[in-house]
Amino acid sequence: MIYDEITYPLETRPGDGEVMEIRDGLFWVRMPIPIPGLDYINLYLIEDTDGWTLVDTGLNTKEIRDLWRHIFATHLKGKPITRLICTHFHPDHLGQAGWICHKWNIHLSMTFSEWNFGRMLYLEAAEETPQAVMDHYSSVGFDEGMLKRVREKGFNYFKTAVSPVPLSFNRLEDGDILSIGNRKWQVVVGCGHSPEHACLYAAEEGILISGDQVLPRITPHIGIYPSEPFANPLKKFIDSIDIFEKLPRDTLVLPAHNDVFFGLHNQLDYYRSHHNDRLNRLLMACSSPQSAHDLLPVLFERELNDKDKGMGIAEGLAHCHYLIGEGLLERLMGDDGVWKFRTTGERHRAVA
Ligand SMILES: [Zn+2]
Repeated sequence: MIYDEITYPLETRPGDGEVMEIRDGLFWVRMPIPIPGLDYINLYLIEDTDGWTLVDTGLNTKEIRDLWRHIFATHLKGKPITRLICTHFHPDHLGQAGWICHKWNIHLSMTFSEWNFGRMLYLEAAEETPQAVMDHYSSVGFDEGMLKRVREKGFNYFKTAVSPVPLSFNRLEDGDILSIGNRKWQVVVGCGHSPEHACLYAAEEGILISGDQVLPRITPHIGIYPSEPFANPLKKFIDSIDIFEKLPRDTLVLPAHNDVFFGLHNQLDYYRSHHNDRLNRLLMACSSPQSAHDLLPVLFERELNDKDKGMGIAEGLAHCHYLIGEGLLERLMGDDGVWKFRTTGERHRAVA
């Protein structure tokens, strides 16, 4: 059965700033992102009776803004943008939202947690990295070079990567139904990659706009960050797999990165086995206390640069916290001020 493997039925993709029709009134827009490994983001334009709904926006760069200006001038059939939905707060999705909402005089539609988090990060930006953030990174095992980089980077990245996050918004909630043109789109919330990520599902045609919740070829990043140092986002992500598994096997998935694909269940199965494999490797490694930094080679075969090490530590912590939640690991503070993880003696309970 074709839907049991990943296939890319369109066999092509739009270029940077180009618009490609996928189905009647449903268009795929691609924008560049200067992040190695991601390279571009997919955004979607949905034709409505009197206007257009846009899903996600791209980073706040001049290049992308110019590409949007061109698309607005040439692809909207004389109709305005009447609704902007951002799936989650990450800057490649939210980056141009403030500018687009201002330009079209519309409210940003987002879930509460995503809008709230984006707005918070925008407002808390500062020249200097707060001491509490430095303390977090040293307690999770960043080495001197990595800490120096965090300090020198300052605390302004989010603010520069997004246009001003609107100070009011239109709340989306799980289960909401949006009528856009002749389609009904249901909001399906998933968690783990971000706090309350909105996907859109058109049941009649079996189409899912999945944002970063379900991506082909890669697994969504799931990490621990200073704002919530003891969180368990991997549990939320794995629980969310159950929600998306209820969708039909022949769902056409429109992701935010890589290509439009069939094989939703195949990818969800892969996420389960990928994370279980990592969890089991960590359990094996933590028979003696290990920091998240110590655990990097357990999780990643390739050589990591400092930035990747930071992301890798965030990912490793998410896996350790999952195992703490299951009662299989415990967290100990080392004499060096770095958290260590050790099995609780229930190692035989390998993750299924
Ligand atoms: Zn994201």
